[in-house]
Amino acid sequence: MAAAIDLAEADLVVLNTCTVTASADDDVRLAVRRIHRDRPETKILVTGCYAQRAPEELAALPGVEWVVGNSHKVAIPEIVMGSAEYHGEIHVGEIGREFLAAPVDDALGDRARPNLKVQDGCSNKCSFCIIPSVRGRSRSAEAEQVIAQVGSLAAKYREVVLSGINLGRWGRDLPGRLRLVDLVRRLLDETPVERLRLSSVEPMDFSDALLELMATSPRIAKHVHAPLQSGSDIVLRRMHRKYRPRHYADRILKARALMPECAFGADVMTGFPGETDAEFEDSRSFIESLPFTYLHVFTYSARPGTPAADAPNQVPMHVRRERTQILRALAEAKNRAFRQQFVGRSVSVVSLMSGRTGLSENYLNVTFASPRQANRIENIQIGGLTADGLYESGMLQVLPS
Ligand code: SF4
Repeated sequence: MAAAIDLAEADLVVLNTCTVTASADDDVRLAVRRIHRDRPETKILVTGCYAQRAPEELAALPGVEWVVGNSHKVAIPEIVMGSAEYHGEIHVGEIGREFLAAPVDDALGDRARPNLKVQDGCSNKCSFCIIPSVRGRSRSAEAEQVIAQVGSLAAKYREVVLSGINLGRWGRDLPGRLRLVDLVRRLLDETPVERLRLSSVEPMDFSDALLELMATSPRIAKHVHAPLQSGSDIVLRRMHRKYRPRHYADRILKARALMPECAFGADVMTGFPGETDAEFEDSRSFIESLPFTYLHVFTYSARPGTPAADAPNQVPMHVRRERTQILRALAEAKNRAFRQQFVGRSVSVVSLMSGRTGLSENYLNVTFASPRQANRIENIQIGGLTADGLYESGMLQVLPS
């Protein structure tokens, strides 16, 4: 994190933190120490989930002037401008129930594909997850506000990514208990956005109506990312996940039937407390049976403050890591087979900021034969595979595959 920061002119550094794993916390502390070591006069403000979870811990680090929880994030400018005395000032309170929108220019992500957060928080209670206690209950941006934001982003960008902590719950807290599909329909009807992409959506929120809309609209990227976590029924129960493997498979196979060339991705965790060899094998074979095109595989690490962290039967770290390697190898093989089917064919690609690469509708990296203007959508003829993506036909120098 700190390596990417150019501190030469910085009077103030704002670190927006994650606390989803213990190693995310380590990264934040390391970044703070590096910044303070390299430029002791720079003031550091730490915000985000780690700040919300453990403000005192962060306030004690050298160089940290302010710790601002998610509860007070929108007040950062006032906090910074209004402070006369510094040193470990803490602004953390209970998370509100309203959705706090960031200005649309702050939408994160690759600048050719802005990421618009339309939902925050989560009302689930997965036993490994700290997010509900640092982000609060699920809450949604008003549809009118999202339509206005997407309309204004669509004037500048071709692709807009809708995101949230639990995006599939969008609208449930709004009058009329709306659904994500209602929002997507309105965005297609009321904005000129050329391509909408949904980030992660919990599997059971991929309703038939949402999948059918995705399949029939050429303006929605054919990309389904549904967190799985485990393919073992028993492990899912221990995780307090709300679906069983058969429910998950039903959604993915339905999506696949409607969108045969769709990208299918999942987050998967290995070595959850108590995961036996047989349970891991259930998970592995379940994953193998489904048409995933990529996986994000995480090695379980205990998150203090969650029920799973106190479970007595923690899996030895070397076993967790071995399982991670097994699933990563499986994911790599599936991804390669998926990419292979596009060689010699044309795919729709949005060009990214460098102008040298783009992202296909179905989430594959594409290297162009010649530089393109950033932020355009075009059909690209595929010549072959790169190490982790595809290259355009006509490339002189073929990257190793
Ligand atoms: S659904 Fe996701 S964010 Fe919510 S508790 Fe479970 S893992 Fe955490």
